[in-house]
Amino acid sequence: MNIIEFSDKYKDEAACVADLKQRRDLQVKECPHCGCTEFYWKGDKAMYECKKCHYRMSLKKGTIMENSNLPIRTWYLAIHLMTATKQSMSACELQRQLGIKSYETAHDLMHKLRDAMGQREGLYKLDDEVELDEMFFDVAVSADEELKRGAGSQAKAKVVVMAGVRTPTEDERRLYESKNRGSKVLKAMNYIKMKVVSGLHAEEVENCAAEGISHNACVVTDAHVSHSQFAKMFARHEAYSESRYGVHAIVTSKLP
Ligand SMILES: [Zn+2]
Repeated sequence: MNIIEFSDKYKDEAACVADLKQRRDLQVKECPHCGCTEFYWKGDKAMYECKKCHYRMSLKKGTIMENSNLPIRTWYLAIHLMTATKQSMSACELQRQLGIKSYETAHDLMHKLRDAMGQREGLYKLDDEVELDEMFFDVAVSADEELKRGAGSQAKAKVVVMAGVRTPTEDERRLYESKNRGSKVLKAMNYIKMKVVSGLHAEEVENCAAEGISHNACVVTDAHVSHSQFAKMFARHEAYSESRYGVHAIVTSKLP
């Protein structure tokens, strides 16, 4: 959905209340006080009222918006901005775009949405062809901390990166190759999962892979010893001495 479609569909608070009510009607089954399954709808207050004990329940109750005074439309717009833009958005930028007065409110909103997105994402596993690689990301450490050298350094976070890859479409191929003369596009990336781990021992990498990748997938890795069980864990395991399509290159070029 682009921003014009968004503003047509969710043109004001009433439209957003109506949309959320439609979704909540399927989820709100019974009164938390008396168990009655029938409600009145108090449209002016955006509340359900139990027909038996008259307990009132806000439309936001039981959702991520519970305990927030922001309009539902602000939440919808935040979700749209955070999912529609390819670049990650800072709390400051979100605050500015949504016209929220306090930075803390914008920060809180963003983190609640990120948590919810992460939980939802955790439910899905990567399928078909998946490339797995271990990477090191720079992390901030205080200047007076003495740094260990190399892979054990506290200035590097160890991250297992899993990328679902697929054959690129003709359009993607043309676009990429016109921008990068001389290089061929071999694979396109669908989804990516990343997990910070305390070490890159076989067991930790295997746990990550089991959590993030479906048993039916074909998993492509380098020939590192920590992948020795992958052939048993997944439908197929292809190990290369050099990553064929370079998860590493994809990730470092795509992430901010
Ligand atoms: Zn009740």
